[in-house]
Amino acid sequence: MEPSKHPKYGSNANKDAGDSSSVLNGHFDGMVKRPDGGGRSGAAQAAVAESGSHRAATSVMESWKEERTRSVEDNEMSLPSLAAAYSTILRGLGEDPQRQGLLKTPWRAATAMQFFTKGYQEKIIDVLNDAIFDEDHDEMVIVKDIDMFSMCEHHLVPIFGRVHIGYLPNKRVLGLSKLARIVEIYSRRLQVQERLTKQIAVAITEALQPTGVGVVIEATHMCMVMRGVQKMNSKTVTSTMLGFFREDPKTRDEFLTLIRS
Ligand SMILES: [Zn+2]
Repeated sequence: MEPSKHPKYGSNANKDAGDSSSVLNGHFDGMVKRPDGGGRSGAAQAAVAESGSHRAATSVMESWKEERTRSVEDNEMSLPSLAAAYSTILRGLGEDPQRQGLLKTPWRAATAMQFFTKGYQEKIIDVLNDAIFDEDHDEMVIVKDIDMFSMCEHHLVPIFGRVHIGYLPNKRVLGLSKLARIVEIYSRRLQVQERLTKQIAVAITEALQPTGVGVVIEATHMCMVMRGVQKMNSKTVTSTMLGFFREDPKTRDEFLTLIRS
């Protein structure tokens, strides 16, 4: 195996992009696998990354084009049935939907729910178009404290918190504001925090073929703080580390130190 070409960050970079096609429908198993050899050497991965320059050739990128999205017309068409469903919920809760304060509530709630899930109306591929630049920069890029608002898919109540993203460019960088847009697209859907974390990391990996990616999300789940033991200040922290961020403790520590500072 060739030694690492990276002057600063570790050795044996091994991007484990995992089973790409399953990312989008919410079952991503590949990322948690340890890259334990099996023919996927660091040198081979680096070669793939270099030959893929600006070519959206991977199957994940292809699947992004096919991604199911919700159109504005879909929103308009489904609004009446969504509102009717909220009327049913109000009655089911023992309320009177005809009570003055509730008259417009089903429509308001339906419209709000469509907004909370507007990530379904956007495709990652549209965000990345024209935002990937050739740049001979290989130092760590970090954007931290990106606000995140999502909806727990188990209880349909908010998850909110902050996302920290770092990556090591491999001749390609992404416009910085686009990292926040990726967070927005995936978080404004029904989610679990673990999947959200991985989807963000995979999107950056596929788009840039960097030598490493780290994503950390700190979030509060309203389904946890409002129910059960009502731990007001409990936070859930999830992380996905790929490439050098996974393989090299020094790289990971640098990232974790910088997002805490
Ligand atoms: Zn929940």
